[in-house]
Amino acid sequence: MSPVIDEKVAPIYQEVLNRNPGEVEFHQAVLEVLESLGPVLVKYPEFAHQKIIQRICEPERQIIFRVPWVDDQNQVQINRGFRVEFNSALGPYKGGLRFHPSVYLGIVKFLGFEQVFKNALTGLPIGGGKGGSDFDPKGRSDGEVMRFCQSFMTELYRHIGEHTDVPAGDIGVGGREIGYLFGQYKRITNRWEAGVLTGKGLSWGGSLVRTEATGYGAVFFVDEMLKVRNDSFEGKKCVVSGSGNVSIYTTEKIVQLGGKVVASSDSNGYIYHENGIDLDLVKQLKEIERRRISDYVNYHKDAKYVAGGNIWEIPCDVAMPSATQNEINGKDAKMLVENGCIAVGEGANMPTTPEGVKIFLDANIAYGPGKAANAGGVATSALEMQQNASRDSWTFDYTEERLQRIMKNIHQSCYETAEEFGTPGNYVNGANCAGFIKVAKAMVAMGII
Ligand code: GLU
Repeated sequence: MSPVIDEKVAPIYQEVLNRNPGEVEFHQAVLEVLESLGPVLVKYPEFAHQKIIQRICEPERQIIFRVPWVDDQNQVQINRGFRVEFNSALGPYKGGLRFHPSVYLGIVKFLGFEQVFKNALTGLPIGGGKGGSDFDPKGRSDGEVMRFCQSFMTELYRHIGEHTDVPAGDIGVGGREIGYLFGQYKRITNRWEAGVLTGKGLSWGGSLVRTEATGYGAVFFVDEMLKVRNDSFEGKKCVVSGSGNVSIYTTEKIVQLGGKVVASSDSNGYIYHENGIDLDLVKQLKEIERRRISDYVNYHKDAKYVAGGNIWEIPCDVAMPSATQNEINGKDAKMLVENGCIAVGEGANMPTTPEGVKIFLDANIAYGPGKAANAGGVATSALEMQQNASRDSWTFDYTEERLQRIMKNIHQSCYETAEEFGTPGNYVNGANCAGFIKVAKAMVAMGII
């Protein structure tokens, strides 16, 4: 059941390639969506007449700016900042900021493009955008991170606002960075405008469950996929890559649902712990002390660290890639399937290459693509915006219950849409078509803008 691009859609993809040279991750994200859309154009011919696909592939606005700052050695540093405001048909642009040396326009556009459909799937009033910088926070002092964030916001502030564009975190941007960004926005604008950023601290407008939301949501999504197959997390051996925010809270929820997580990783290697990962230790090492995952084995002699190792070689029932894009290639996917993996839920954005996706779909395993499975983070950001707008703060249990309901609805809408378009069980098609149709209908209603 490998996807092929429809002949009506192929020229549109060619145009995207021509207009955006060198942006390979953006090409990959666009192709994955466009491969699903042939049958949608048959059902909704007005989308073709209105050139909705062409318009959706072109961001509404792209901002690129200089970010100068001074490091601890008194040296001037220059980074590049980005904010791509992709689509605002359903609400203000919404999506995270990524600080990582690999960031360039092609990465920000792939993330922004996926965000449009992901946000539509949540059913909440949020458009899609993404931003970031090639700044590398690794090894930087608190003071350096603060000065960088202040410089970044000194340009970004003029483009954002609670009704315009609402950034949040992503790789390299967590609670500390959101704090510095919010402080600078408040200072420059002279406005205490909670709704301008999400992922805020709990005492200044943040929402309970936002920290846990992406990981928890991804596990709720996989749990729904397993339920369809009369199965559950109970007793399952799981591999969760990464050791950042998404990975940590994915692991936490899997354990709560009766599963066991045996491995964790960072960009240098992975640890394997047959008895189950000690999550309190990972939180201490990564969230508080900002250390490398290799240090884990100093505390657990029965765990092993494999420097430069490939975490997907570990046999497991459920795999949850929660590190970064293209971390599972065709070979890894084949290995997972051959080792008996029955479900994959993507906590990261686009962690599986197109070859890998084809292998998962052909093997008929339960495969939840990122734009559906990891939508819990941004959905809870939208819940944070709701609380900010009503100057309210909800309890943990109530907010988690809302998150779980949203993930259930996303699963159902992907599942039903996949069936409607003749590819039952294919959550890639389901997510792409359901997200696209929602945005497309709003765009048709609003005219040529
Ligand atoms: N960066 C997250 C994502 O990929 C969350 C974005 C947000 O909360 O706005 O969806």
